[in-house]
Amino acid sequence: MLKFYNTLTRTKEDFRPLNGNTVTMYSCGPTVYNYAHIGNLRTYIFMDLIRRTLKYEGYKLKGVMNITDVGHLMADSDDGEDKMAVASREQNKTPWEIAEQYTKVFFEDLAKLNISKPEIIAKATEHIPEMIDYVKSLEEGGVSYETSDGIYFDISKFPRYGCLSRANIEEQLAGARVEVNDEKRHPADFALWKKADPLHIMQWDSPWGKGYPGWHIECSAMSRKYLGECFDIHSGGVDHIPIHHENEIAQNEVLTGKQSVRFWMHGEFMLVNNGKMSKSLGNTYTIADLEKKGYDPLDFRFFCLNTHYRKKLNFTFEGLDAAKTSRERLTQALIQHKASSAATDKAVIDKLRGEFRRAIEDDINVPLALGILFTAIKEPKSKDIYELALEFDKIFGLSFDKIKASETVKEEAVEIPEEIASLVKARAEAKAAKNYALADEIRAEIAKKGYNVLDTRDGVKVTPVK
Ligand code: AMP
Ligand code: ZN
Repeated sequence: MLKFYNTLTRTKEDFRPLNGNTVTMYSCGPTVYNYAHIGNLRTYIFMDLIRRTLKYEGYKLKGVMNITDVGHLMADSDDGEDKMAVASREQNKTPWEIAEQYTKVFFEDLAKLNISKPEIIAKATEHIPEMIDYVKSLEEGGVSYETSDGIYFDISKFPRYGCLSRANIEEQLAGARVEVNDEKRHPADFALWKKADPLHIMQWDSPWGKGYPGWHIECSAMSRKYLGECFDIHSGGVDHIPIHHENEIAQNEVLTGKQSVRFWMHGEFMLVNNGKMSKSLGNTYTIADLEKKGYDPLDFRFFCLNTHYRKKLNFTFEGLDAAKTSRERLTQALIQHKASSAATDKAVIDKLRGEFRRAIEDDINVPLALGILFTAIKEPKSKDIYELALEFDKIFGLSFDKIKASETVKEEAVEIPEEIASLVKARAEAKAAKNYALADEIRAEIAKKGYNVLDTRDGVKVTPVK
């Protein structure tokens, strides 16, 4: 039975879709004002792992990811300027040009990391009417109020406010800094709609004059449009728990009274040298940075797979090097399994497959599942192991299908005994004489003595069976 950890209940719960066989899922997407850094990308690898797990379990997916191209202010709690406006000024481009540029690179990064795109990609700027409608309904429901700079959600109208982070709002606020906006009734009230000054580039007509949407209403409006009032899964990074997702819950549920999201799932943060990484601190890396240093984006994906999504992951280049080496070793082993015509006992395969599935069903335990793959490749070389690895790769997404049997096998400094060397020679002679039956017989004899023979572009390679 598939189990996912639900942030809302702080427990692992059995997962079943609300409706039939199709899972409805919303994932908070990027704010496209800059390149995604490797921390952001860890969160999208996490989203991808949820999606792959659901597919592996036989479910269909209806996934939505937003592209925030307006309204996300410098601080999540509605302070500061719109991130898009800042980037636009700094780079001397329109916010639309900025959005287009970084959205394009974002999807290129996802493709490099084998992250499948959700079925629906929803740009905030293409859903302004839905957002205005949403704010109007909240206004009609009497849960918002107007100030000189916008329309705000009144959290006192939603007694469960704080249910996701389990924060005691009053306690939290007692220690908080002085509120900048003294027109707000409560410091945690948040903007649904911001009124724009004439110089603000991105602005739309609305019942409250010209302005732009608040960041939180974007996700509520787009998830409701595509997935309805109640859907199965909402994913994002842990930083979204206390403000962004808390606010989404308040907007979604204050008028319906229904639980809008069945499973809230959050990916832990990536750190750099054990510290916080963020674009504003300037200690971030992009996929392009890693490529420039000679890494394959899949080295980074593999690096991420080694740590469970609910654990912090500290990024270092030593760690990435270790991942690269380990992935190389894996590839070498898989080349040999692929080249083999031998079979593996079905019972052995079934056992490995069962263990793998149990790991995945236990809240996507990919590190454990990788361990099972490493156990599998230690089996005597066989095409069945390669086939099994391909099946596992539906979760890992490491492109095992692109491994070519003809890829050069790295020389290992091993001494080949005389006896084996002369058998290899005899096999080469048999092949030269087109006596393939004899060549295969000799290969089998060599295998019995504990060695694999592999024909590669660079000649015959002989390696001991591990
Ligand atoms: P943003 O583009 O800033 O809206 O962030 C995109 C996603 O990346 C969000 O889901 C964040 O939760 C996530 N995120 C931001 N920083 C990190 C980090 N250091 N590690 C992992 N995820 C992060
Ligand atoms: Zn969101």
